[in-house]
Amino acid sequence: MKIEHLGIAVKSLADSDDLFARLLGQSNYKQESVEREGVTTSFYELGESKIELLEATNPESPIAKFLEKKGEGIHHIAFDVNDINEEIIRLKNEGFVVLNEIPKKGADNKLVVFLHPKGTNGVLIELCQEIK
Ligand code: ZN
Repeated sequence: MKIEHLGIAVKSLADSDDLFARLLGQSNYKQESVEREGVTTSFYELGESKIELLEATNPESPIAKFLEKKGEGIHHIAFDVNDINEEIIRLKNEGFVVLNEIPKKGADNKLVVFLHPKGTNGVLIELCQEIK
């Protein structure tokens, strides 16, 4: 496993894209909406890992709710896994609560599942596997 990316919830992707472009000295390499999840994402490459900025596309979006409760900041940590279905079984056996047991298609050509933050010290964990 490695940290594939850090997800950061932002109010305005336009403002934050400007900020992160200045911070990292590079532009995003991709912007992508996942309408089913109510998010628009923007990705930056940092060596082996990435930063994913997340903006809500509607008030019901999980990102809108996160911003309401906690404000802007780190929303999730994503681990890269080789076999997401195997990891789901392993983590369920370890007692973790998997939020979606059937991996769904996320941004950046990935299958993703999330673990409930109540069981992971308050941090939302994403497992992701590249779709080949
Ligand atoms: Zn993510």
